[in-house]
Amino acid sequence: MARKIRVTVWNEFRHEKRADKQAVLKHYPQGIHHAIAAPLAEQRDMKVCTATLDEPEHGLTQAVLDRTDVLLWWGHCAHGDVTDEIAKRVQTRVLEGMGFIAIHSAHFSKPFKLLMGTNCSLTWRDIGERERLWNIAPSHPITQGIGDCFELPESEMYGERFDIPEPDQLIFLSWFQGGEVFRSGCCFNRGHGRVFYFSPGHETYPTFKDVNVQTVLRNAVRWAAATVQLSDSCDYAEPRESVVKPVKATRRKR
Ligand code: ZN
Repeated sequence: MARKIRVTVWNEFRHEKRADKQAVLKHYPQGIHHAIAAPLAEQRDMKVCTATLDEPEHGLTQAVLDRTDVLLWWGHCAHGDVTDEIAKRVQTRVLEGMGFIAIHSAHFSKPFKLLMGTNCSLTWRDIGERERLWNIAPSHPITQGIGDCFELPESEMYGERFDIPEPDQLIFLSWFQGGEVFRSGCCFNRGHGRVFYFSPGHETYPTFKDVNVQTVLRNAVRWAAATVQLSDSCDYAEPRESVVKPVKATRRKR
């Protein structure tokens, strides 16, 4: 079998420690990173590890990133605690070929904003309404195993306008009970890397236990997996063969 896809699941891991943590721990007693990582770790073609904000270098040393094919990112209340240096390190690795999957409130994470170059703002409302995600790209690798649509009975509403660059491909479009729509599955190419934004995943709902969400994330890891690792350079290029300047035509005197 080919080499396993090396997956790192990153979680800021702060909601699980706050005063109101019970609402999160009810669904994710070991933390959101474990809930995302566990179904991926069951895949024979994936090797999964986790990293969290309060580890040294947020668990994302250069060595860890160099051996990561796909990085999944969940963050919400502590985007500002991620150092600019490490956000830049993640961006650089994506441009070199690493896959990056930004989940839910990671729309406002530093690495995602660096990769998009826009504000990445949206509208939101958390009243536990129904979300229906429409599969608008049934031939895309990430939507395999997903039918026409699937529903999450309780979800945080994320609505347009979502201030992102035009995605290279839009694969999910969400409808919410309250009336909004949202581009909930967006694919981007950045340098040699692939980026996928997927909007479900609020911390107080059991979204990561949903089989369709698990299918999407599993497919997304395979789609985004790095195929190359090429550092940036901007070198002088020697000509491949000698370039002879054409001889100027001389005009005969009359
Ligand atoms: Zn949320």
